[in-house]
Amino acid sequence: MPADATTIELVEVGPRDGLQNESVVFSTAAKVEFIERVIAAGTRRVEVTSFVNPKRVPQMADAEDVLRLLPRHEGVYYVGLVLNAKGFERAAAAGCNEIGMAVVASDTFNRRNQGVSTEESIAAWLDIARSAKAAGIRPQVTVSAAFGCPFEGEIAADRVLEVVRRVAEAEPHEVALADTIGVGVPTQVTDLVGRVRDALPGIQVRCHFHNTRNTGLANAYAAVQAGATVLDASVGGIGGCPFAPAATGNIPTEDLLYMLARMGVRTGVDLEATIATGRWLQDHLGRPVPGMLVKAGGFPGVSASREA
Ligand code: MG
Repeated sequence: MPADATTIELVEVGPRDGLQNESVVFSTAAKVEFIERVIAAGTRRVEVTSFVNPKRVPQMADAEDVLRLLPRHEGVYYVGLVLNAKGFERAAAAGCNEIGMAVVASDTFNRRNQGVSTEESIAAWLDIARSAKAAGIRPQVTVSAAFGCPFEGEIAADRVLEVVRRVAEAEPHEVALADTIGVGVPTQVTDLVGRVRDALPGIQVRCHFHNTRNTGLANAYAAVQAGATVLDASVGGIGGCPFAPAATGNIPTEDLLYMLARMGVRTGVDLEATIATGRWLQDHLGRPVPGMLVKAGGFPGVSASREA
């Protein structure tokens, strides 16, 4: 682990990536409660919704209402996921203070997910980033399917790196590498994060993992070791992608918190409060969540990663 990797910033993606694939529709009030719970636990960045076509992702149809009902907190960033200029305009009007755009490393997946080529999404992103900065909104970008594509299979690291270089031209707050369908393995993470850091030493690297094949937490460890400083996670490990066949949940926030806290890595997020939110989520979904800590609980002395 690099000497400076004593702090990792978490982005809670449960309210968007976590919920978007759930058949149980959450009320707007329940979403707001979910977001308020993770903020109360210490999280400072929350992907609160996406501004996409509600016909394609019905769970996110209340995006504007969620933003309208959320209390604003000093230092808290409400991230809205956008896939095009129209989505950005909605996110800006709704009051997001950070927007995340996704560009898929694989052209086939980009067309399925957002209806245009990767090249067209890159062009849209460069415009969106400019507009966001002009509006005082923090822009960041995710390169999706960076570790493999459900339609094209392996994506060459050189291709991923090229997409990263292109999106980084906008000088975003950070660039994320996403294992959208959960096929990545730790050696791949070490390699890809290392390459991005070598190619773009000034850029903050975030990683987004799905635990579809149970390698999510190992990948998170590899990412931290390789110098990523921000990780996405969802409480309970809920999630998936409606356009990625058989994709399952994100890495569970509380499981990640446990691992990082015992490694001596600070996150500022309270473990026990996050476990409680996982149980709250479980009650709302009416079924067990994938995360392990919700079942196992913590360990004496690891409950307060906030103070660690
Ligand atoms: Mg995802």
